[in-house]
Amino acid sequence: MSVLGIDIGGTFIKFAGKSGSDVKKGKIPTESRFDSILTEIKKLCKNFHPKSIGIGIAGLYDKKTGKLTASPNIKFLEGIDLKEILEEELSVPVVIENDASAAAYGEYMYGAGKGGKIVVCLTLGTGLGGGVVINGELVSGVSGSAMEIGHITIDINGWRCHCGRKGCLEAYVSSYGLERFYFFLTDQSIPSSQIIILANEGKLEAMKALEEFARHLAVGLMNITHIFNPDRVIIGGGIPAYYPAVIDLATAELKKIAFELPFRDVKIKRADLGEYSGAFGAMALAEKLKR
Ligand SMILES: [Zn+2]
Repeated sequence: MSVLGIDIGGTFIKFAGKSGSDVKKGKIPTESRFDSILTEIKKLCKNFHPKSIGIGIAGLYDKKTGKLTASPNIKFLEGIDLKEILEEELSVPVVIENDASAAAYGEYMYGAGKGGKIVVCLTLGTGLGGGVVINGELVSGVSGSAMEIGHITIDINGWRCHCGRKGCLEAYVSSYGLERFYFFLTDQSIPSSQIIILANEGKLEAMKALEEFARHLAVGLMNITHIFNPDRVIIGGGIPAYYPAVIDLATAELKKIAFELPFRDVKIKRADLGEYSGAFGAMALAEKLKR
């Protein structure tokens, strides 16, 4: 019996497919059109012959209507009845979940969250996503939009977020947040990937920008710790992958600002599955559906 998990992004789909105990993963570039994505999913189905498919997708996926309602990075999929179309085209049951929730489930089942009781996962990329698994169950909310951790407000008069609100955590803790910190320090606009390279070379301004970034990440971690009292918080995405010091900096700051009791029992860890947390989570959700 095989199952397939697919993480749909704006320009790539990532997959994890399982036949027996054999797991294969990969990344396929796609054009930013639904038909291009569908063609690639069909090819994967020919290889894997899955009995069920899990999909992780960026944005707010409405579990009641089966439609993606808001997704800044994959606008071309908004309003499409994704579940119905995929089940019809692929002739297998399909489960769809927000990509950060899928990533949380992936890390819980196969990665840094294994064995955790309350596992919160943050996905730090262009935006900031979140997911939580409590006692083995993914908590995705009544409509499917729980854990939009990137859009909790940390400063009501703060920086503008890509969602349009002011002072969201994501406005600081995201690749564009890091670029802003660097800009305020140097008056220069350079991509976050470049800032990380400079910080790894020991350039002071870049390191300082990442310190500011970590200080704001710690505020997010404090809110999470105070709400959930989790045993694991897992941080995935490019910034901690290429500059792991950000996790130590944020943890040290968290120690200073959080209540002592929940801080005592929380471990802040880097994601184990790298960019594949979402695909693995989607695969695990497909497996659960099959049962
Ligand atoms: Zn926001």
